[in-house]
Amino acid sequence: KAKSQGGGKVVFYTEALSEAVTRKLEMEQALRRALEQDELRLHYQPQVNAQTQQIVGAEALIRWQPKSGAMISPAAFIPIAEETGLIVPIGEWVIRTACIQALQWFGEGLGAFQISVNVSSRQFQETDFAAGVLRIVEETGLPPDRLVLEITESIAIQDEGDAIVKLLAIKNAGIQIAMDDFGTGYSSLGVLKRIRVDKLKIDQTFVRDIGGNEEQATIVEAILAMASSLKLEVIAEGVETADQYQFLRSRGCGWIQGYYFSRPLPADQFGHAYVRKR
Ligand code: C2E
Ligand code: MG
Ligand code: MG
Ligand code: MG
Repeated sequence: KAKSQGGGKVVFYTEALSEAVTRKLEMEQALRRALEQDELRLHYQPQVNAQTQQIVGAEALIRWQPKSGAMISPAAFIPIAEETGLIVPIGEWVIRTACIQALQWFGEGLGAFQISVNVSSRQFQETDFAAGVLRIVEETGLPPDRLVLEITESIAIQDEGDAIVKLLAIKNAGIQIAMDDFGTGYSSLGVLKRIRVDKLKIDQTFVRDIGGNEEQATIVEAILAMASSLKLEVIAEGVETADQYQFLRSRGCGWIQGYYFSRPLPADQFGHAYVRKR
């Protein structure tokens, strides 16, 4: 009896497993089509100077807009893109598209401005990642110091030596590096010391509780003090309220990004709001 129950379970698990595999395969194929058929989009979220409130940059954030159906957020498909390796061509598309878009806006009169793109660890681990980025920058003609790559602490987990070599090649070309989601990783300080980033993005989980939670406020103050002594530019993410903004501004946070100033916008809306001011 026990045996037959066990057998039943095996069948059950096998079915569940193959269903999951099928779903993943379907998603992978749909994502591959999305890339080929131009269903991916970048939205751009302004980053402003905390003192002047002038726009100083934007983060490019990917969206998947299927021909029919609702827009899909990166949280829903980036993990699959990473698992399947599709993040490599998608990531190249992101960098190229963002560079071309920024160049267009410069041509239309946008002044001092940096464009930031997210780089996933899987993408960074490609042997020719650095060479690929340099090639895109060269081909598009974007001044390298206008481009910022947002990485996370996890890029250094697998092979820190390799990560440092790649980052050096990128930085030597003039491209800047920002540490994204800072404070959520494991070895924050050690990694920061060894891989010399230009900017540090305070994760929105710390920003969220600034007003209500004294401990979180203290963490943010500590990050700002440390960044200042390391001479790093700090960007606070997820700033939603005037109180959060005032707290960060008054304690020397240089750049602000969040719904308080603007949600991420499609390129044309971003252009109308920040570039084509007539
Ligand atoms: P992230 O790089 O930390 O991006 C910030 C996320 O916070 C974005 O979510 C943004 O829309 C959201 N956000 C901005 N301001 C606020 C705010 O005031 N309040 C709240 N609650 N949220 C805010 P999004 O666009 O859904 O992207 C989520 C994550 O997906 C990103 O986190 C990034 O890790 C990843 N991602 C997005 N685009 C790309 C991409 O092109 N390539 C890769 N590899 N990852 C990407
Ligand atoms: Mg980011
Ligand atoms: Mg972030
Ligand atoms: Mg994040």
